[in-house]
Amino acid sequence: MKMTQAYPHIKDNLEAVLARIASALSHAGRSQQETQLIAVSKKFSQELIREAYLSGQKHFGENYVQEATNKIDKLSDLPLEWHFIGPIQSNKTGQIATKFDWVHSVDRLKIAQRLSQARSASGSALKICLQVNITEEESKQGCSVADLVELAQSVERLPNLEFRGLMTMPRAKASKQDIVDTFRRLAELKNALNQEGLKLDVLSMGMSDDLEIGIQEGATFVRVGRGIFGNR
Ligand SMILES: *Cc1c(COP(=O)(O)O)cnc(C)c1O
Repeated sequence: MKMTQAYPHIKDNLEAVLARIASALSHAGRSQQETQLIAVSKKFSQELIREAYLSGQKHFGENYVQEATNKIDKLSDLPLEWHFIGPIQSNKTGQIATKFDWVHSVDRLKIAQRLSQARSASGSALKICLQVNITEEESKQGCSVADLVELAQSVERLPNLEFRGLMTMPRAKASKQDIVDTFRRLAELKNALNQEGLKLDVLSMGMSDDLEIGIQEGATFVRVGRGIFGNR
């Protein structure tokens, strides 16, 4: 039997991150619960995830399909919500569609179609965010701003998917103002899609170092790894 306090730093770190979220929400004049924390557990063990769950954490994010599915199977006794947030190879869409509750990193129609086909029609829909490459970096995942409306309208029509919102990442080594601009742009794009008749309610933006900016700009999910589990 594992003691519940085998990794006491997890509970302390979680509490510190949740306090940052609560403070950022009140500072932004938003109500508590409007932003949910995703604990990004890539490269951390199932024991640490279990510990985070025992400390009250429910949403977990993973980037690597094989690693994630092993952990998801071992933790299937817990009522966790799993978010896929990494780059998606088309030959991995079957596993992603069956093992995860959410996918934040959909950036092209082919991937969305494959996720739609692989998700069972009998179960709950797979919740989807489109990742947008707002900074237009060549090395980065994400659809371009120019392609977003068309992609969004196509994804909205696919069965077995529930299109919920947008995700982005700031430029590496971005200044604070760059991060503000990137997140604000994502919020504007979500509003613009809603004007087109979509019903998006999710903005996935903000990580360990910039979650306050994400919350200020309207994030409904922040994705924090190092701030909870330590350095990889
Ligand atoms: C790894 C990762 C995170 C978490 O990053 P940390 O630096 O560990 O907080 C968030 N979002 C995405 C897309 C990631 O790949």
